[in-house]
Amino acid sequence: MNAPSHDTATTAFETLAVHAAEPRPAHGGSVVHPLYQGTVFESVPGESYDELKYIRLNTNPSQQHLHEKLAALEGAEAAVATASGMAAITTTLLATLAAGDHVIAAGSFYGGTHHFLTEQAPRLGWNVDFVGPDDHDAWAEAMRPRTKAFLVETISNPLARVADLAGIAAFSREHGITSIIDNTFATPVVFRPHTIGFDLVCHSATKALNGHSDLVAGVVTGTEEAIGRIRHVLNLYGGSLDPHAGFLLARGLKTLALRVRQQNTGSLALARFLEGHKGIAQVNHPGLESHPDHARATELFDGYGSVFSFRPTGGVEAAESLLKGLRLPYVAPSLGGVESLVTRPAVTSHAGMSAEEREAEGIHDDLIRFSTGIEAPDDLIADFAQALGA
Ligand SMILES: *Cc1c(COP(=O)(O)O)cnc(C)c1O
Repeated sequence: MNAPSHDTATTAFETLAVHAAEPRPAHGGSVVHPLYQGTVFESVPGESYDELKYIRLNTNPSQQHLHEKLAALEGAEAAVATASGMAAITTTLLATLAAGDHVIAAGSFYGGTHHFLTEQAPRLGWNVDFVGPDDHDAWAEAMRPRTKAFLVETISNPLARVADLAGIAAFSREHGITSIIDNTFATPVVFRPHTIGFDLVCHSATKALNGHSDLVAGVVTGTEEAIGRIRHVLNLYGGSLDPHAGFLLARGLKTLALRVRQQNTGSLALARFLEGHKGIAQVNHPGLESHPDHARATELFDGYGSVFSFRPTGGVEAAESLLKGLRLPYVAPSLGGVESLVTRPAVTSHAGMSAEEREAEGIHDDLIRFSTGIEAPDDLIADFAQALGA
């Protein structure tokens, strides 16, 4: 492919999102990179297995176009797309760990990831230690001769905590272990983990990268060498992304910066409004001065993300009646789409945890999580004002 190379450090994200990895002259003259849905392509003499043009081997031209675009957006050498966010995380771990190896996991995790680490990792002979996200002593104590990886999420769900990410990247480098970060909640618009030294960045592209709540996909970015290893494992386990979903994802990516910046603006405006409302007891938004990780988020991020949480005064009953009173957001889990979504984690994303575990983490039964869409911030605020007034 004859794509012009863009300096991903100096070209604005908005420009990269539209132009990165788009060949010039355009492929067949088509301004939109064409969708190749074919499963197989004519062989070239001397091809190795991984070079065969076959859909599961991630060598279909539409898949490769998507990979180049994703790498540019995370500022990485290479990327590979997967059939889901979970496929991105599990394939990355499968390519990094062997039986008997050990992984350090910092902070709290997406439900699927937590479930995988506690239920499936032991079946694979992996040892997992969960540690505090800022507890350097605990990280050092957790280190074993066979520690191979350190896993963390950029912004935690649903309390929007931000771990000592720079510390984790540096610790991993110092100990020669692979640092892996799930950057789904931030997106590369808010934070690019490779710039502070993370080795591998995973995403659920189902969320903001696609942004339209209409496909499931995942992404891993890193060096050519690391992504080559992960792609090899992906090709064998078979969690490759269908090119049609990839085509839609590439379309979604072009507006990523516009969507995320609008979501960030709406999210912070709404959080400020709620913090000042007598019907709200607590707001967890890293853009608020009251958030414990506000300073860290301000230092590391460009914007504070679209997802935050809050507790109404009046407990679960007040939370449920607020959910009923809102007119714009859909009551649904997931996040990162153009439409605002609202959910009560205790009965959705975190229902798998015991009530005691949830309380210990601060995920109270009356906690509400809000994923801000691209609606006008004033309309979202007006909707909350009417719902809280009712
Ligand atoms: C949704 C999500 C995942 C899982 O992604 P799927 O595309 O549903 O497989 C992983 N991590 C985070 C932070 C998520 O929000």
